[in-house]
Amino acid sequence: MNSGMIGKIEKAHRYAAQRQRFAFERIAVTVHGDNDEHTVSLDGSVWQCSCDFFAHHATCAHTMALELLLDEMLPQPAQQAVA
Ligand SMILES: [Zn+2]
Repeated sequence: MNSGMIGKIEKAHRYAAQRQRFAFERIAVTVHGDNDEHTVSLDGSVWQCSCDFFAHHATCAHTMALELLLDEMLPQPAQQAVA
């Protein structure tokens, strides 16, 4: 492996350890819930989930789990008061 690639890999590890460098603008995730699979998406700061609870509350365990998982990598408005 050439030294250029080694440098890139080292930088990738450094970036990956600094989560605040990343800001997810759009994501689509399938969440394997206890009883069903749910499709969760984020577009800008707007969450969507295919589960029934989300339809009535505009939040749910699936979106909150992703907020906990992605934390500071989400745009500020998409971070609700889960922490
Ligand atoms: Zn949900």
